[in-house]
Amino acid sequence: MPTRLLLEEGHDITVFYANSNIAPRAEYERRLVELEKYAEAQGFAVFEGEYEPAAWERVVAPIGEAIKDLSPALGSKHAGDDAPLPESVAELLDDERRRERCRACYRMRLEEAANAAVEGGFDGMATTLAVSPYQFTDVIHEELERACADAGIAAHFEDYRPYYDEATRISRELGMYRQNYCGCRFSVAEGEATRAYIKQKRKLEKAARRAERESEEAARKEHAAQKRAYAEAQARKRAVLKALREKKK
Ligand code: SF4
Repeated sequence: MPTRLLLEEGHDITVFYANSNIAPRAEYERRLVELEKYAEAQGFAVFEGEYEPAAWERVVAPIGEAIKDLSPALGSKHAGDDAPLPESVAELLDDERRRERCRACYRMRLEEAANAAVEGGFDGMATTLAVSPYQFTDVIHEELERACADAGIAAHFEDYRPYYDEATRISRELGMYRQNYCGCRFSVAEGEATRAYIKQKRKLEKAARRAERESEEAARKEHAAQKRAYAEAQARKRAVLKALREKKK
């Protein structure tokens, strides 16, 4: 979706695939192949960065370990039927420790992309990360600005989240592979928690709609019964009056 919008804005774009965060390697390659197919159809080039999961493990994973053990996204917020359900997936996953882990992850990849942009002679950089409502968009914005400033190129940030549904629809129509977790090993469990949350939320919304329908139906029946009772009372009254009139004759 960002690529379409950037092309429409007149940018000459090239995609840099910087994803040492993705595990396992088969998933990394699957997403890359999918991107390359899409890019070929759309007419833009894709360059692959170095796949260095060991570097990601060294720089980002230590922050992630703490979150894995303690994150409310995977623990108390999700445990037990009595716990209030978060308002959204973003709220479910909005944990300060996860935020810092993702910040480190964005930083690593955006720095790599910005350096590659300089080497390739590009004058600016945007990021597809800004399309997902499950990411920390404010942090992405900060890290994009930082990476671009350090590299001496322009940062092109736009909040693409309003296009997420459209992007989802198009990818479904094209039969594209749709990942069900962000990328790192920690996000596998978060993806599961997200799906469980969505399922539970839909169930509760369905139950609320059913309760509303039942309440409307009960009110409708009550109203009809009152109308019927009133009509019957009126009919009885008319019958009594009629009988009295006939008696007087
Ligand atoms: S959830 Fe996504 S952005 Fe956050 S650390 Fe994992 S791979 Fe990186």
